[in-house]
Amino acid sequence: CGVFGVVGVDNAASVVALGLHALQHRGQEAGGIVTHEFGQGFSSARRFGYVRDNFTDAETMATLPGPIGIGHVRYSTSGSKGATQIRDVQPFFGEFSMGGAAIAHNGNITNALALRKELIERGSIFQSSSDSECIIHLMARSMGKHIPDRMEEALRKVEGAFSVVAMTRTKLIGCRDPLGVRPLVLGQLGDGWVLASETCALDIINATFIREIEPGEMVVATSKGVESHFPFRPTKSRFCIFEHVYFSRPDSILGGRSVYETRENIGRELAKEAPVDADMVCPVPDSGTPAAIGFSLESGIPYAMGIIRNQYMGRTFIEPSESIRNMGVRLKLNVNRALVKGKRIILVDDSVVRGTTSRKIKEMILEAGAAEVHFRIASPPTKWPCFYGVDTPQRDKLLAANMSEEEMRDHLGVDSLKFISIDGLYRAVGQAKGRNQDSPQYCDACFSGDYPVKPTDMVEQGFEM
Ligand code: 5GP
Ligand code: SF4
Ligand code: MG
Repeated sequence: CGVFGVVGVDNAASVVALGLHALQHRGQEAGGIVTHEFGQGFSSARRFGYVRDNFTDAETMATLPGPIGIGHVRYSTSGSKGATQIRDVQPFFGEFSMGGAAIAHNGNITNALALRKELIERGSIFQSSSDSECIIHLMARSMGKHIPDRMEEALRKVEGAFSVVAMTRTKLIGCRDPLGVRPLVLGQLGDGWVLASETCALDIINATFIREIEPGEMVVATSKGVESHFPFRPTKSRFCIFEHVYFSRPDSILGGRSVYETRENIGRELAKEAPVDADMVCPVPDSGTPAAIGFSLESGIPYAMGIIRNQYMGRTFIEPSESIRNMGVRLKLNVNRALVKGKRIILVDDSVVRGTTSRKIKEMILEAGAAEVHFRIASPPTKWPCFYGVDTPQRDKLLAANMSEEEMRDHLGVDSLKFISIDGLYRAVGQAKGRNQDSPQYCDACFSGDYPVKPTDMVEQGFEM
């Protein structure tokens, strides 16, 4: 998901809408905005679909007045899957004795079921099926005097990954879990302050990037300035390495690194680790593009657009149902026949999850007359599900959890298949010595099975780590 918030600007809602539009790649199912205006109270709008279709008309935007607002774009990793339930669309809102508050959450709470059960037994009335709603109920039960205190207390009970943006009538609050699994950045816009999942959302409104919110940090921004504190027990951070590989936009800066540059590095590492003689390097667009460019630069094999992407389709993986995903590949990608005919092609993609994309593409490209197809993948084999905010399927659906590399190559029907090594990936994100086995620098659980936070609810349901 993507989160965004702003305080101290004219017409916060339109700023939030622009920010969310820049974060649309993080969630395409639904979006919502909450604002506050003195004299009029809180306003909210939550809709299915794209930001550009829901939050651009003057009529809707007029219902969201005020100088402070937050927003969320949803990609379901918990609760109802797909655009089926408006009650699961964030921000969530709560009314407390000291006033109202709204929150927007990116990540996944790994003990949400346990918390929910306990809260319901003690009288909480849940409105949604989302893990994020726990935060509001925990805040309601807190005895804290101010809303930020209550949020802090609530978040101390929550396990897993959370980058949260919240608001009261006057305060914009941001918080990252102690591991800092999901990103969150702070920006400045005139006299106002901005919080966003990624820096690309600051660029669109021409805000100045100030810094990242640190893992375990909570900030409270008002028109007077920004206060910061660290409410959790300090731990070594474990940022999601897959944000670098796929999830974030390539024009964002994460952990002081350009995502684009990292992806290009991954391609270079791949070319060194798994060279192959071929006529051209083609990306599976868009997610494989920077890595393909890196592969081409390193190998000297020309880069070409052998597959063309229909720009009017969203992210395939993010479609929750298998049948739509299957269709999706053809709706979204087409082979550039004239270019690939008779050629030996290196195809670069970011990941193989179920293998749906790779299989379809291989079929399409061979049908178009390619002589050879070599897959090079910009992440290690995805063997484990993510419980921290990326919707990877159960292990039985993960190709790499059930097949050896050779079996996968055979299943996909390609001439060769190579994944970047975990150390190669770490080198690409700037860790010259690769992965520190004793104390890994990132979360890489979907590749390694090394879960930095115990997925309590899943273990309860029988998941074996
Ligand atoms: P597959 O078709 O193998 O199930 O999925 C791989 C494709 O989904 C890749 O092209 C990748 O770009 C895309 N993808 C989109 N979202 C995700 C995600 O959340 N996780 C992973 N691993 N791949 C994703
Ligand atoms: Fe990111 Fe993978 Fe860790 Fe999930 S399991 S947070 S996708 S690195
Ligand atoms: Mg892709």
